Amino acid sequence: MSQTCAPGTVAVVGAGIVGLSVATQLQREGHRVTVLDRDEPMQACSAGNAGYLSEANIFPPASPDMLAQLPKLMLSKEGPLIVRPSYVHRMLPWTRHALKVLQPRSLQAVTEALASMTRIAYPALADLATHTGASALLSRDGGLVVFKTEAGLEKKSRALPIWNGYGLPVRRLSASQIAELEPALSDDVVGGLFFENSGRCSNPKRLGQLYAAHLAQAGAIILRDEVRSVEPSETGAITVLSAGGKATFDRVVVCAGYWGGALMKPFFRSVPIVSERGYHLMLPSPDVKLTRPVVFGEPHFAATPMEEGLRLAGTAEFSSPDAKPSMERATMLLRLARRYLKQVNGEGAQTWMGIRPSFPDGLPAVGCVPGHPSLLYAFGHAHNGLTLSAVTSLCVAALIRGERPPVDIAPLDLGRFSNTPAQHHNLRKSAA
Ligand SMILES: Cc1cc2nc3c(=O)[nH]c(=O)nc-3n(C[C@H](O)[C@H](O)[C@H](O)COP(=O)(O)OP(=O)(O)OC[C@H]3O[C@@H](n4cnc5c(N)ncnc54)[C@H](O)[C@@H]3O)c2cc1C
Repeated sequence: MSQTCAPGTVAVVGAGIVGLSVATQLQREGHRVTVLDRDEPMQACSAGNAGYLSEANIFPPASPDMLAQLPKLMLSKEGPLIVRPSYVHRMLPWTRHALKVLQPRSLQAVTEALASMTRIAYPALADLATHTGASALLSRDGGLVVFKTEAGLEKKSRALPIWNGYGLPVRRLSASQIAELEPALSDDVVGGLFFENSGRCSNPKRLGQLYAAHLAQAGAIILRDEVRSVEPSETGAITVLSAGGKATFDRVVVCAGYWGGALMKPFFRSVPIVSERGYHLMLPSPDVKLTRPVVFGEPHFAATPMEEGLRLAGTAEFSSPDAKPSMERATMLLRLARRYLKQVNGEGAQTWMGIRPSFPDGLPAVGCVPGHPSLLYAFGHAHNGLTLSAVTSLCVAALIRGERPPVDIAPLDLGRFSNTPAQHHNLRKSAA
């Protein structure tokens, strides 16, 4: 790669679902787009997620319960949430920030920010999917979380007024109502919650690949190249230094998932992103039928019907991104799923691991680098990257147009971990 681009050029670093959504939206608005990824599009975290377009995930990741259990979790080999001992040093700053978020005012601000994005997430996704010919992959039949104990159901139900208060409709369902919706579930499910506006994507990898195909067909350049750094110049243009060379663009948007942290580190005092690895087990002939995503509440993971079978997905493993995947964490999902789907067939099951890019407050980072409005970032979507991909693209496009984004993105500023109010300057200016 070695070129200088004319005005109106945008480079998007990262061809996961966030980068491809941003690229598609920007191309739609007339920008000349180049997408750079060290791999083919949709090979990282976005390839294997649970496909759940969930309206449930509006809370920060750490709860007082979880933080109190951290020492135990560090020693655990199994369980839905573990911390690898070699990763503890990375978890310390993360935990410090996560603790701050549990203070009532911060908790409310984070919840409000996630809820505001979530409320418009599905229509935004549906619009982008229609634009790229991918709408058949999306459906909106709601999502369930089900429990085997009254205590578990009671605990989860306490948040019902919060979801409903933010305009995300949720109803508590009895065991018989759940059985009517999903007859395949075992009859000892005591009840659950129904998120009626949630949806699903029946093939997340293909969704992104359709975006990529549409981009290429409409003239975007999709390059396989590893970006080493991004450097603002005095003229306002941004230079991308990569394994393939050097190129200058009018604007650059860093959408590199977990690795966005390293590219943004030179511009922020603290970027406490961690690698929260998750696993899936794809069952090609499950012999049971679900019609919508079902989250099993105890322990917490999801089962989603997909084009290629039934996908069991979830678990959180805070671990070095480069450590060998522990695929037994994927295979254990079949054992756990049998508690809820007694007849499920695991023959031919395929394992997969992906790296969730996770900030301590559960919010993504979306904004522009202080003093360099042409250098933007959108990464760190943790458990919600597919759901929030299109709404993120609308925020980035609005920032570039110099208009107010569809949601308040001030809480998404990457400067929020650095305690330097000056870093909020650009954002306030562009949102004004
Ligand atoms: C088990 C599991 C289940 C999940 N379920 C759901 C779900 O149901 N719903 C939901 O909304 N979300 C879910 N998620 C989360 C979601 O998958 C992620 O939030 C999302 O994929 C993040 O997308 P991304 O584009 O930011 O990152 P990625 O998909 O990781 O893409 C980043 C891209 O950047 C590229 N890159 C990085 N650094 C460089 C560089 N220096 N140069 C060039 N290229 C670079 C990488 O190669 C990669 O292609 C789940 C995640 C997991 C692990």
